[in-house]
Amino acid sequence: MKNLFINGKWLSSESGETLKVYNPANNELLKELSFGNETDVKKAIDAAYQAFPVWSNMSPNERSKILRKVSDLITENLEDLALTITKETGKPISEARNETLRASENFLWYSEETKRINGEVLSSNIPTKRLIVVNQPIGVVGAITPWNIPLNMIARKLGPALAAGCTVVLKPAESTPLDAIKMFEIFEKAGFPKGVVNLIIGKPEKVGEEFINNRKVRKITFTGSTRVGKYLMEGASKQVKNISLELGGHAPFIVFEDADLDQAVDSLLLTKFGNNGQMCISANRIYVQEAVVESFSAKLIERLEKMKVGNGAEEDTKIGPLINESALNKVLSHIEDAKDKGAKVLYGGERLVGGGLEEGFFCKPTILVEVNSKMKVAHEETFGPVAPIISFKNEEDIIDIANNSDYGLAAYFFTKSTKKSFEVAEKLQYGIIGVNDGWPIQIHTPFAGHKESGIGVEGGTFAVKEFLTTKLITMNIEN
Ligand code: NAP
Repeated sequence: MKNLFINGKWLSSESGETLKVYNPANNELLKELSFGNETDVKKAIDAAYQAFPVWSNMSPNERSKILRKVSDLITENLEDLALTITKETGKPISEARNETLRASENFLWYSEETKRINGEVLSSNIPTKRLIVVNQPIGVVGAITPWNIPLNMIARKLGPALAAGCTVVLKPAESTPLDAIKMFEIFEKAGFPKGVVNLIIGKPEKVGEEFINNRKVRKITFTGSTRVGKYLMEGASKQVKNISLELGGHAPFIVFEDADLDQAVDSLLLTKFGNNGQMCISANRIYVQEAVVESFSAKLIERLEKMKVGNGAEEDTKIGPLINESALNKVLSHIEDAKDKGAKVLYGGERLVGGGLEEGFFCKPTILVEVNSKMKVAHEETFGPVAPIISFKNEEDIIDIANNSDYGLAAYFFTKSTKKSFEVAEKLQYGIIGVNDGWPIQIHTPFAGHKESGIGVEGGTFAVKEFLTTKLITMNIEN
């Protein structure tokens, strides 16, 4: 088992420990992998450190060609990559293909962006001085990614880091390392100089600790839970290490009575049931104005009834399993908690077994009504296919209710009024606002959590800046 990629070579871990990877649709063992520890991480960081002068001094055109090659190779291997995503996450193959395409588009975008890293010449108040501002790559980057978007998350972090001229050590999630391995096989073919990209599949605490304490790592970029994000941020403060965090969310989804209900339902299907609700931007609290609660719920049920829940590898599956048993138990416990506190189950509400699903972690898509703010679904990330509907009367109150969260990642609302569109969007305290839009992300748009949802920006040009440092060169020209 040689699945750690360090200094241009495939290696086994020093410890000899292993990691088993399972398919959440049927609990089938997919692969047993070599599992790294602190010694392996140190080696990877050393390799990235050695490679930094090589990569950062390479011409933008040369860097661009390699990143472009990565994009092309991802497209050429689309089906294989997508099937791997489906096997390790359970997500439907159609979603996995989309994710793979987005990963390719990201590398394409950053292959262009690497040519546009410029500085500025400032005017000087002192006539004998000239002022030049240069933007330089920050150094070695430690990147940590989650399991829910395993391939594209690598592209969203490594694309801008590499475009900026940084070298990288990546730690993917334990449940989804197989896509990362395939991505690094592509990196190998694309022709990066040795040490520029390094892969550590290893113990999260050991990798995190080394990223925090190793002075050769100048930047940590992390996507995952707010709990781990806070731990890393606290650790990074010891060396005042630069850190970007994309963390959890608890998105409000507001349907005003003047909304196009079909459009709102279509959007909810994307943002609540896409990826089985396992996204940081997934809608968590569905606020529907009293007059349209019944018709909105009826339309939603009609659509959910037509969505096949099953093994993601089957083409007609729309909703796959949850990532593992503990994720399933968490979702079921949120449903039970809501029921105990007075919610009614309008649809679903249970684990799905039978018809070949018994070994997997399937939850029937669920609609809850009569939900109140004391229930876990109303303030904790459920990370599953549960839509808690909370009816509201007054437009004036709903903004405060929607903003009443420690999270601040995405928010959605639906209305036909242009005036309300602007007024509500400006008042919502979230980094991404979807107005009549259930999928508010494109490759080049900023993705930034407010409050405890994160710090820093991903996406497009904004992301490249996260991997650059600003330097002033002031020149006295009087000899
Ligand atoms: P998680 O438990 O925080 O794990 C994320 C990554 O951190 C994994 O690679 C994990 O490794 C690693 N990790 C865990 N403990 C660590 C430690 N002590 N030091 C260093 N790394 C550590 O989160 P998750 O449950 O996988 O992902 C779901 C969360 O991610 C949700 O909260 C979701 O909202 C958030 N998310 C946010 C965004 C965004 O852009 N804002 C996007 C997607 C997901 P192991 O897998 O080996 O444990």
